[in-house]
Amino acid sequence: MANFNIDSKSERTFDAIVIGSGMSGGWAAKELGDKGLKTLVLERGRDVKHNKDYPTTNMYPWEFAHHGQVTAEIREANPIVNRCYAFGEDAMHFFVKDKEHPYVQEKPFDWIRGYQVGGKSLLWARQTQRWSDFDFDGPARDGFAVDWPIRYKDIAPWYSHIEKFAGISGNLDGIAELPDGEFLPAFPLNAVEQRFSKHVKQHYQNRHVISARCAHLSKPNQIHFDQGRAQCQKRTLCQRGCPFGGYFSANSSTIPWALKSGHVTLRPFSVVESIMYDEKLGKATGVRVIDTNTKEAIEYYADVIFLNAAALNSNLVLLNSTSSRFPNGLGNDSGTLGKYVAFHNYSAHINAEWDGDKEWTTDGRNPAGGGYIPRFRNVYKQETDFLRGYAAGFSAYRYRETSSDGVGEDLKKNLVNDSLSGWKVGSHMMGETIPKKSNYVALDKSQKDQWGIPLLKIAVEYDDNDAKMKKDYVEQMTEMFTSAGFTNIKASTDNRAPGLDIHEMGGVRMGNDPKTSMLDKWHRLHACQNVYVTDGASMTSTSCQNPSLTYMAFAARAVDHAVSESKK
Ligand SMILES: Cc1cc2nc3c(=O)[nH]c(=O)nc-3n(C[C@H](O)[C@H](O)[C@H](O)COP(=O)(O)OP(=O)(O)OC[C@H]3O[C@@H](n4cnc5c(N)ncnc54)[C@H](O)[C@@H]3O)c2cc1C
Ligand code: SF4
Repeated sequence: MANFNIDSKSERTFDAIVIGSGMSGGWAAKELGDKGLKTLVLERGRDVKHNKDYPTTNMYPWEFAHHGQVTAEIREANPIVNRCYAFGEDAMHFFVKDKEHPYVQEKPFDWIRGYQVGGKSLLWARQTQRWSDFDFDGPARDGFAVDWPIRYKDIAPWYSHIEKFAGISGNLDGIAELPDGEFLPAFPLNAVEQRFSKHVKQHYQNRHVISARCAHLSKPNQIHFDQGRAQCQKRTLCQRGCPFGGYFSANSSTIPWALKSGHVTLRPFSVVESIMYDEKLGKATGVRVIDTNTKEAIEYYADVIFLNAAALNSNLVLLNSTSSRFPNGLGNDSGTLGKYVAFHNYSAHINAEWDGDKEWTTDGRNPAGGGYIPRFRNVYKQETDFLRGYAAGFSAYRYRETSSDGVGEDLKKNLVNDSLSGWKVGSHMMGETIPKKSNYVALDKSQKDQWGIPLLKIAVEYDDNDAKMKKDYVEQMTEMFTSAGFTNIKASTDNRAPGLDIHEMGGVRMGNDPKTSMLDKWHRLHACQNVYVTDGASMTSTSCQNPSLTYMAFAARAVDHAVSESKK
């Protein structure tokens, strides 16, 4: 039963409600606050204040009980989240542990989550590329999913808007399939990365190895200082939360900015159970929340609602928002809610050695992670037996050959041995996947969480297209590495479950036709126009670029639309 006594309805009434305070919700909150709307941000997890709540940020390796490693006990208790590369002793407090928030794996799926103010924006690898019309045209050109209702020109100004405020480093590379943005200086490639970049440029048409574009303040501007952020010190300890605000997170940037506007209220420990719909008014009136500490149900009201709970949780909230008008979930006239879920495919890698450039070292760190190879397959025409393509990371490094072998004098010598290894090079694949009806999420019919909300059931899997793409990545990269003179080339693929790339998308897709899609070109539910979904759930297709920059641009664009509509 809803508790109506804690305060009056007017105190629980806002102009706008944002569900989720992570990467995309932070942007919705900031934009709404900047435009003067009285806004409530609801976050299921605890508050994480910039700096104050980064307990490990300044710790030395020897100050950790297990030198940064996760103990066998924790690993065994968390087989899913432990598979995420960033789950270490220094950052595990920002990850959802396996048993805390169960879900149903109809097919194996590694669901990596961060339930706190800031969401996964604290944990991300900060890779930020714009999408292009080669991505937005994709479904129409290649005959899958539905046509995107927008094109690059619709979103380009909003990419600029985000990039200037968040701070994105990169070069103006002039590549049509990877549009340039409003960049701070790039983190340069090292000697061997530059060598490979030059080699690829000389020997391949339309293939490029560029400095990775990432959300780090390589050279902050006034707008970044105004947020209380400072230059990135290249510590590469970002997943702990950065005391300098050197990388973009909702915690260091959008959420404190929104709160400073004086128009925004943040309510942590508030899990949104559903969105309320009024049949007479033909619109959503607010949300039903459970206070995760007291288990009280509380209703909040607003003219407009932004759903930014991250892709799969946004699906869950809509599926759980039923009424006699929408018995199968809010806005679900098309029957597509929860379907056409897609993700990325990171399951192929390649490593090798380079026996030159010994006069160069990699002293100093690169928070961007090295190089980025934009998609080169099937860009201008279909050229393979699979649809779409993949981008790839590329990095080269040397390491100090310290070891803990031996005893006594030998051990001491080995521990302080600072001779450098030869160069190692490596790459990983980032593949686009094709959204399919059979890849879906739904509410479990019998199991509920501790607040009585049905558990999410996930049934998604890779397909033959993914397998062919993986094979092609291995062949192409092996060929490129061989022609560059790299030796001891070892390619590997793994049979990981989907999810571990942490780029889940879809289920509430955009489209022109309300019969086949959930959202219109402004990210509003076709059938309930005061609810906007601007996170990964809204994606019609996945591209192979990292998605978060696009979610943020979508959120800012949708707020602008909502506010201009309300002025009408
Ligand atoms: C290790 C790692 C590396 C990554 N690297 C990259 C990268 O390099 N580039 C990139 O683009 N992306 C990357 N990502 C993915 C990126 O973090 C996500 O795409 C992004 O955070 C999604 O934004 P979001 O707002 O949808 O979700 P989140 O940032 O997860 O925020 C969602 C928020 O909603 C809250 N919430 C959920 N359900 C409810 C509810 N019912 N009621 C109230 N609140 C709710 C959650 O607690 C959370 O705080 C990475 C992620 C991880 C973990
Ligand atoms: S690399 Fe930059 S952003 Fe990351 S922790 Fe260090 S200073 Fe902060």
